[in-house]
Amino acid sequence: MDNPIIQLENVSYAYPDAEAPALSGVSLEIARRSFVAVLGHNGSGKSTLAKCLNAIVVPQSGRVLVNGLDTADEDKLLDVRRTVGMVFQNPDNQIVASVVEDDVAFAPENLGVPPTEIRARVDEALRRVGMYGYRLHAPHLLSGGQKQRVAIAGVLAMQPQCIVLDEPTAMLDPVGRREVLSAVRDLRRHSGMTVVLITHHMEECVYADRLIVMEKGRVAMDGAPREVFPRVEELRALGLTVPETVNLLHQLREAGWDLPLDALTVEDCASKIAELIVS
Ligand code: ADP
Ligand code: MG
Repeated sequence: MDNPIIQLENVSYAYPDAEAPALSGVSLEIARRSFVAVLGHNGSGKSTLAKCLNAIVVPQSGRVLVNGLDTADEDKLLDVRRTVGMVFQNPDNQIVASVVEDDVAFAPENLGVPPTEIRARVDEALRRVGMYGYRLHAPHLLSGGQKQRVAIAGVLAMQPQCIVLDEPTAMLDPVGRREVLSAVRDLRRHSGMTVVLITHHMEECVYADRLIVMEKGRVAMDGAPREVFPRVEELRALGLTVPETVNLLHQLREAGWDLPLDALTVEDCASKIAELIVS
């Protein structure tokens, strides 16, 4: 891969007193400006992997390079953290101020960004996630989806090159999930940022360029969603389901319809079925 933003070389990590390692021998590279989704059962190592990407976890063997900087190098910690921003599951734990715009300004203030520039960064970040109109609101009165978008804006205001979101929709209702996902997809489209989205909702992976499936601390599958999702039986064996669209096509195939399994969006799926009905 040409000049990847992140490289993991044979990374292993075990928590103290754990029976099994959380990550075992993981090697992968993440391309600049790509949108990578990471799927896997609970306990498969997704969060540990995410934490390796900005040096919250440093591997016991192997290494993680961010823009070529080793995350184990303490002198480079600030550079690594500026390059890779993290968004976590619970938006309530990420809110630190009582006014939305102060919350978004918090991280750049800590990085020593000049006040005039902070103003511009905060406004831009809030616009990006569709929360500019709420800049003077109290975060605790917002919906879960709105709070999570404010948390994303807080990370954007640091101007990272890569944003890692660890199950950002897990605590949200369906409306909040849609809001956050659409904000994430826009980031990729309009900013050229590298996006790593960790999730256990299959539907959230459909728009990714690449899908990594984790199992017991290892990479079990790795490819474009169109290549990975048709492997329905293997995914089921890992305790995962497939998107509703793939599931429907799979069932129709089993009933004898000659349909491809790689139509992932509802529109794609509907047009494949329509083609068959018309022909
Ligand atoms: P996922 O995010 O896919 O659910 P994690 O990376 O959180 O997976 O966990 C991987 C493994 O590491 C699991 O077996 C989990 O129980 C263990 N683990 C995670 N965090 C800790 C911790 N802080 N202390 C001990 N074990 C942990
Ligand atoms: Mg997790």
